[in-house]
Amino acid sequence: MLDNMPPKSSETRKLNLDANVTKKDLKWAELGFQYHKTDYRFSAVHENGHWKDGALIGDEIIEIHEGAPSLHYAQQCFEGLKAQTAKDGRVVLFRPDLNSERMNQAATRLLMPEVPNEMFSQAIEETVRANYAWIPPYGSGASLYIRPMLIGEGENLGLNPAQRFQFRVFVSPVGPYYKEAGLAVISLAVSNMDRAAPNGTGSYKVGANYAGGLLATRKAQELGANEALYLDSAEGRYIDEAGSANIIIAMKGAKVITPLSDAILPSITRRSLMEIAARQLNMKIEERPIELRAEYTNFIEMGACGTAAVLSPVGRIWFDDSWHAVFEDGQTVGPIMQEMYDILVGIQKGDLADHYGWLHEVSI
Ligand SMILES: *Cc1c(COP(=O)(O)O)cnc(C)c1O
Repeated sequence: MLDNMPPKSSETRKLNLDANVTKKDLKWAELGFQYHKTDYRFSAVHENGHWKDGALIGDEIIEIHEGAPSLHYAQQCFEGLKAQTAKDGRVVLFRPDLNSERMNQAATRLLMPEVPNEMFSQAIEETVRANYAWIPPYGSGASLYIRPMLIGEGENLGLNPAQRFQFRVFVSPVGPYYKEAGLAVISLAVSNMDRAAPNGTGSYKVGANYAGGLLATRKAQELGANEALYLDSAEGRYIDEAGSANIIIAMKGAKVITPLSDAILPSITRRSLMEIAARQLNMKIEERPIELRAEYTNFIEMGACGTAAVLSPVGRIWFDDSWHAVFEDGQTVGPIMQEMYDILVGIQKGDLADHYGWLHEVSI
């Protein structure tokens, strides 16, 4: 294990300056959205009512008790954010405080201990810094995906909260979520399965929401779509969201609308795009229930957004046994989604001025 020990923080700076010259020899531009083992991850344990000091470790394998509540009862939650290299070499995160806040909402909902904001940001920064060689270079189109997670570990059998929890952060260099690079037009197929109940856990990033979606995604893909689109589970009328991305829609009259629903994951990307639409594109923004069948003919453009998907224009939607084009032929990127994408990505990479104060620099 000695050769796999993390650098002491005093050594980190030197190590990373060296790493600067020796970035990993990856074909950055060809990366997809896949797990790539990097050198370090952060781990901290909560036991007997308090957090113990966390540390960077080399081992990607978690040894876990067979009775652990995270394995049986999905007492676990996670987050997702990205680090990017700016043109000037700075390494930047996008609104990480919101991920911290959201993880703690999930933790509270599932009777898990909150991860103190300070520990959350320290864990992320240390993990990113220690894996400097794995951060895709500026202009490669790739970024470093960061996956914080909180899991209930330890011996258990009945339906009880865990006695022990682990907070872990690992990272992986990734390319675009939907295969093609840049702005790829995707298609969605309305699922006849529900993602989350109205008063369930749909608005929390908890593992329990996703296993059930695997089959829905598979069925959507069998129809030739990229992802499933979920309607509200009470009436099956209103748009909720896609499997791992929220929905935004451009309407006539320079307006952008997005579903109002308690069952969707409050996307940080969506929140940011709505703000960009209002403040930089002078569009009206509205969060309200959106009835798919009654309203889709009024859609001008549609997009699926999230950290992984960024903003993917939706060309067509499958429902009621046929395809319905949303924008032109269903293959073309519309000008509104293009502009929103360019501004968002420009800010995230540090190419455009960050008037909002959204970027957080990681000191390397
Ligand atoms: C993570 C996620 C999103 C996107 O949220 P961001 O904060 O923008 O990354 C959207 N929908 C679901 C179901 C998600 O899990």
